[in-house]
Amino acid sequence: MDSTLLQKISNIVGQKHCRTGKEELHCYSYDGSRQRALPDVVVFPDCTEQVSALLRLANEHGLPVTARGAGSGMTGGAVPLQGGMVLACSRLNRILEIDKENQIAVVQPGVITGEFQSELKKQQLMYPPDPASLKFCTLGGNAAECAGGPSAVKYGVTKDSIIGLEVVLANGDILHTGTRTEKGVVGYDLTRLFIGSEGTLGVITQIITRLQPLPEWKETFLLQSTSLQKSTTLVAKILQHNILPCTLEYMDKTAISVVSELLPEPPAEDIRTMLILEIDGSKDHVMDQVQRLRELLKQEPHCSLRQAANEQDIQDIWRARRSISPAAFKLNPHKSSEDVVVPRTRIPDLVLFCESLAGKLQLIILTFGHAGDGNLHVNIMTRNRDQRESEKIQQAKSALFTEVLRLGGTISGEHGVGNTKSAFISLELDRTSIAVMRSLKKLFDPNTILNPGKILP
Ligand SMILES: Cc1cc2nc3c(=O)[nH]c(=O)nc-3n(C[C@H](O)[C@H](O)[C@H](O)COP(=O)(O)OP(=O)(O)OC[C@H]3O[C@@H](n4cnc5c(N)ncnc54)[C@H](O)[C@@H]3O)c2cc1C
Repeated sequence: MDSTLLQKISNIVGQKHCRTGKEELHCYSYDGSRQRALPDVVVFPDCTEQVSALLRLANEHGLPVTARGAGSGMTGGAVPLQGGMVLACSRLNRILEIDKENQIAVVQPGVITGEFQSELKKQQLMYPPDPASLKFCTLGGNAAECAGGPSAVKYGVTKDSIIGLEVVLANGDILHTGTRTEKGVVGYDLTRLFIGSEGTLGVITQIITRLQPLPEWKETFLLQSTSLQKSTTLVAKILQHNILPCTLEYMDKTAISVVSELLPEPPAEDIRTMLILEIDGSKDHVMDQVQRLRELLKQEPHCSLRQAANEQDIQDIWRARRSISPAAFKLNPHKSSEDVVVPRTRIPDLVLFCESLAGKLQLIILTFGHAGDGNLHVNIMTRNRDQRESEKIQQAKSALFTEVLRLGGTISGEHGVGNTKSAFISLELDRTSIAVMRSLKKLFDPNTILNPGKILP
């Protein structure tokens, strides 16, 4: 990188916060997709004004800029494919305000999601989006990906909990979107435009979140089933029976096998699937819902219900669920992780399709995830990344996406497009939509400096 430009960058953030050492560049070269590309420089701004000055400079010099939270994204979003500057948000990590009366908070993007939730809990408040990565991912990364999590079935995904943003545009201008109020319809909904835009339209520097009161009561259950077909059909039945869980997670037999030692009790040999189901609310409401659930399950003899007996049981169940993704590497060293969504009633078709695809292509495929909203993680595990295996993965992905769309679904529910899915978006989006998206990109980022190579092929 040109030394004069580097000096100007260093002048903005201070020498200590502008790093070019090889080992540091490596630390900011990858994400959860396990791709790698080295940036030329990593910067750690600590205020909006510094982000603005950095982007203005980068724009003048056509320097690519990749914003980065914790680098836990699964689709290559934080990988600086064209080098340039990684803008790390780790110093933008302050909770600026928690307004208990109005149930909103204002935060910087580098706040760790789980730490924000712990802070709120002390005040009997809750921020519902709970990606399984919450112990390390950031609110900025969640906003940029529109992350979801188990609680989405009841409380929605990140876009349902964010009501306003501060964003720095590619030319350094600072934009404020949305409101601090529950309602607000003045002009176009720019908040929603930036949520899920994967750092390609601007860098988020502040987030206004909606909060909820912490539910008074919660019960946690494990539903173990000997039938793949019947248990996946049960997901839609539960919701049709006026039971609204705050969590309805699914694991197939392979997913169970990689975390079985973490569960409160090892599952019996004939167990094909598990559902984790949680119900929250007032105590009376929870008891009424549990009663309905027990009634429904009388007609489902393939399924046994185990109620978590204490906090340790609950912790164990969740540790097992959140460990599936990393534990899958026990099966094979390489993973292609998809997060497709289908209408709930089509989940049985999807899981059967995945089983038959695995058999046909001789691949290990495990499925698990947020069954309550039809969002399943389909993980394709391979032994190596040679040409033969890579071709097989492409073939599997293509067949999976085609089937998901045939079932009325979408190719990504929460992980976004990044570069790993950009070649497939035309399967789902029509030409006009892609053309409008290209125009928006050009309007916000005419010099294509913001996260080039992501979303749009
Ligand atoms: C074990 C594991 C479990 C996971 N479980 C879930 C899950 O349940 N649900 C789910 O949705 N995801 C899940 N993920 C994926 C990932 O954690 C989420 O996508 C998360 O939102 C990424 O946050 P991050 O801070 O790591 O962002 P990064 O990976 O650093 O970045 C993600 C994207 O956001 C952009 N970005 C980051 N900060 C900003 C900013 N301030 N302004 C603009 N753009 C920005 C980046 O450029 C990139 O495109 C999981 C990942 C792992 C490894």
